[in-house]
Amino acid sequence: MSSDYIFNAFRKLPVAVNALFGDPLQEDQWGNTINKIEALSRDQHIGNIAIITKLIPREKHLKYLYNKGTNIILIISITGLNENDILLSEYLKGYIKACSYLHNTIMYMRPIIPKKNDKFKIISRIVKAASKGTRVLVARPYFDLKSKKKQNCYKTLNLIKRICHDNNVMFFSKTSCASSKLTSIPCPTHVTNIPKNIELIKRLNYPISWHNGAPLFEEKFKPTKGDINLIRMLTNCSPKYTDIVNTTLISFGFENNVPLDCTSSWITWGRQVKCKTGCWYCIARNHETFSQYKNIGCLPSEMPKKLIKSSITIY
Ligand code: SF4
Repeated sequence: MSSDYIFNAFRKLPVAVNALFGDPLQEDQWGNTINKIEALSRDQHIGNIAIITKLIPREKHLKYLYNKGTNIILIISITGLNENDILLSEYLKGYIKACSYLHNTIMYMRPIIPKKNDKFKIISRIVKAASKGTRVLVARPYFDLKSKKKQNCYKTLNLIKRICHDNNVMFFSKTSCASSKLTSIPCPTHVTNIPKNIELIKRLNYPISWHNGAPLFEEKFKPTKGDINLIRMLTNCSPKYTDIVNTTLISFGFENNVPLDCTSSWITWGRQVKCKTGCWYCIARNHETFSQYKNIGCLPSEMPKKLIKSSITIY
């Protein structure tokens, strides 16, 4: 197996840049966001690259992102909760302007919080704006850190779907599916269970074997949700396991105490700085594990080196 093959498998992974604490577009984070996008660009990253913001993108952001390739996705989170004291009308204007620069812009209704922003009037205004933009909308429920559960927004999500349908807007419940729709890069979330990269996983020396055509974590190893997500994305199969650690972080084999976060949609590559937006519902700020780290993740093509045990050489 050539090292090119290994690196390409990681270059195909979707990555979210500075998507933890500290908005990727805020002034003291924007330079770092650019550095990461430049590194991905030099590396000829193949997978989708997400910039998820709760700010109104400025001309300089849009001009920069416009020139950075067809796999850049701008995801603008609009809740109707007037974060930053910005009115919904201003957010919606900002979204429309962003769409005029970037075809790969997603309207992101997140979080939907019962009794706060689940009214028809708010939803309808957001969906109508989406219908004047790229017509791609993702809605996600509120995650309550105290109960560690997503709020049940079943009725609201159905209402959003209906309003989207009436306004010719495509509704998605996952950003990875919406991104895939825009860039035509296959969505890594919905696997077909036709295995790929079997040899690659063995070379990474994950405590995993192949059993009946599916990856199986060793019984003594408790994978995190992040381990499971990463193996799913790399192998196109849902891995099997005996027990799980209830966190999204991967720490296995990573050096210098820089953990890796792999959601079901993205590998995260982020630096955490104080977020100027200060949403009361922020998960990143209050997360017991995430908040301990300044840096999370790395350039995807650097992951193989970090994930293998030192006794294994793939180069
Ligand atoms: S305060 Fe938290 S939720 Fe709000 S924009 Fe910043 S990182 Fe995102």
